[in-house]
Amino acid sequence: MTETTTPAFPTGSVLGYPRIGPRRELKKALESFWAGRTEAADVETVAADLRRRTRTRLAELGLRTDVPAIPSAFSFYDQVLDATALLGAVPERFADLADADGRLDLAGYSTLARGRGDDLPLEMTKWFDTNYHYLVPEIGPETTFRYASDRPVRELAEGLADGVLTRPVVVGPVTYLALAKATEGSPADFSPIDRLPDVLPVYAALLRDLRAAGATWVQLDEPALVSDSVDVPAERLYAAVIEAYRALATEIPADERPAILVAAPYGDLGAAWPVLAATDVDAIGIDLVRGSVPEAVPGLGTTTLVAGVVDGHNIWRADLDAKLTVLEQLEGLGAAAVTVGTSTSLFHVPHDTADEPALDPTLTSWLAFADQKVSEVVTLAEGLTEGREAVHDQLLAAAEALRSRATAPGVRRPEVRERTAALTADAFTRGSFEERKVQQAARLELPPLPTTTIGSFPQTTDIRKARAAHAKGELTTAQYEDEMRAEIRRVVELQEEIGLDVLVHGEPERNDMVQYFAENLDGFAVTQNGWVQSYGSRCTRPSILWGDVSRPAPITVSWTSYTQSLTSKPVKGMLTGPVTILAWSFVRDDQPLGETANQVALALRDEIADLEAAGIAIVQVDEPALRELLPLREADHAAYLDWSVRSFRLATSGVRDDTQIHTHLCYSEFGEVIGAIDGLDADVTSIEAARSKMEILGDIAAAGYPRAIGPGVYDIHSPRVPSEEEVTELLTEAVKAIALDQLWVNPDCGLKTRRYEEVTPSLEAILAATRTVRATL
Ligand code: GLN
Ligand code: ZN
Repeated sequence: MTETTTPAFPTGSVLGYPRIGPRRELKKALESFWAGRTEAADVETVAADLRRRTRTRLAELGLRTDVPAIPSAFSFYDQVLDATALLGAVPERFADLADADGRLDLAGYSTLARGRGDDLPLEMTKWFDTNYHYLVPEIGPETTFRYASDRPVRELAEGLADGVLTRPVVVGPVTYLALAKATEGSPADFSPIDRLPDVLPVYAALLRDLRAAGATWVQLDEPALVSDSVDVPAERLYAAVIEAYRALATEIPADERPAILVAAPYGDLGAAWPVLAATDVDAIGIDLVRGSVPEAVPGLGTTTLVAGVVDGHNIWRADLDAKLTVLEQLEGLGAAAVTVGTSTSLFHVPHDTADEPALDPTLTSWLAFADQKVSEVVTLAEGLTEGREAVHDQLLAAAEALRSRATAPGVRRPEVRERTAALTADAFTRGSFEERKVQQAARLELPPLPTTTIGSFPQTTDIRKARAAHAKGELTTAQYEDEMRAEIRRVVELQEEIGLDVLVHGEPERNDMVQYFAENLDGFAVTQNGWVQSYGSRCTRPSILWGDVSRPAPITVSWTSYTQSLTSKPVKGMLTGPVTILAWSFVRDDQPLGETANQVALALRDEIADLEAAGIAIVQVDEPALRELLPLREADHAAYLDWSVRSFRLATSGVRDDTQIHTHLCYSEFGEVIGAIDGLDADVTSIEAARSKMEILGDIAAAGYPRAIGPGVYDIHSPRVPSEEEVTELLTEAVKAIALDQLWVNPDCGLKTRRYEEVTPSLEAILAATRTVRATL
């Protein structure tokens, strides 16, 4: 018998790196391919080039190339879809896209993500508590699994050909199945995790192939282990971990597979920690930004700990000295080795702060984007192995940046802090809903089943062109605003023609519902190139909330008043709520989120007061991200809901009883957050419901929810125009389930991503259906 020793894990490493390219090169390549302008081979060329540049860059920044410090973690669209392709788990409706061996080409792979005709794409949903969305695998009792993609092996070989030994990264088997949904028609007691024994042979085959191709380590990502929100109960999940890693780590001889790193990003392993530690995996990646230093447990003597001390999910420069202290604590656990890593993949942050010449240099000196984080990892690794003295200068520079950040003007402003400190309970409460309801009815005089929209109307090419021209200085602000007012006039006219009851201005002046407010509030900065993948080829550019927030001047009041001057119907003012502003920005990490949320809330409260003073009778405060920020661990829900709900109430409770507050939430799981929705105390809540055919009505009725609700009757995520009959059917259902004076009629969400050819007939169908149902009352 030959004794095999596990190869040492690199002392500094990252779990992953941005994939879309510093100039969104992958996005452009994919979108040209989808539009039929280029071939799959062209996308492959761009992708191979991006991967090479990533390897070169990471090596330049100090990651080693002779041991697998550099992850091979590219994806054309989504890492969960990649695992679906690896396992050949192609849903029935797309079976024709795979070849006889279950392989998908780039066109087929894209079709799973994008759908074709009546074949709906895989469902997309949020990846843990990030703003990234993955494609949900569909797994049934009959799904065949086979080893259908050798991409990880080819990409490893590509690196080796360049002289770089990378570490292939694949979504782990437990997380893959925990995130899957059962195919339609599966028996009620079936759960995708039941299929674990059938996916493990594919993973085993991949590991053997990777080893044969020269891999010394592989990384299997298992974030399901940090979450209570996956569909698999904890005990079942732990049993799956034991089974999976017995098959992959224990049963495959160590000289026939790469050493295995199981990474658990996005939170604390909690009770999964001793379970994972007791397996034979060679290394465990722990998130030490969200999670804390775990306890010593049996089984660590042969395990390397990859300490995720550098935050992969936010953009602040780390306190390197404090991180070294955490690393030293970790060394006390008696593991085989402690190495330095990131808490999550770096694909949640932009590439490089050097790419932001327009940012204030002082602010830039506080930031670490992906490349700066790699340098932090390299420094910490050196500090850990050589001692603090070896990295003395870097520690000093990091401490200096922190000191600058703590004391810079704008970070802590007494006038903002005095206001939040002086808040008393009455700032968070309105008068009784019963009283408000009577006064609002008298003021607004709306018909039964009042109709409205969620706020935005299509963002046309002309609007985008005008905005770009204004940004370039080709249009003066006055010219730009004229164009926007002309657009508002068109939108108002259209709404009057269609016969909507509560009108909106259509949000033409907003590039994005968060960035628009960030640009108009103090305490925020926006980036030029800070793109972060949101899903597939789509990216967002989160704003940076760095200082105390206040409102230097009214933001929306002139647009809303102008709109109201055009019509005798009530116009609804439109704001983004504090929780959503936080969720979709990079937020300062030097104080509790609740404090930051209250500052944003007070700025919005002032805006609402100004809208009210200008005669606006209805204000909508959108909180689509309320559920998104819900912590992964149930134990943390109450504290989160407390600060998030309070900030919304702080924003909206300053109004008179006869001013109607609306909110909008972008999802249909009403039951899950009913407590929070109730807590918001909004007079009217619009919510997505069309896709699920108004399933939420049952929850609303069961909860005895007292206030008004607008369950969406038009699925705006699809180009389909609903027929009058189908909307009538939905409304007839709704009228049966909920009291008439509680019911509003509206689409699922804003219309900005749709075209007028779809929007106009859809709204007409909604109005026709509403009239039909009204006539039956
Ligand atoms: N008012 C916004 C709009 O209509 C709401 C968008 C959202 O909820 N995501 O576009
Ligand atoms: Zn929405």
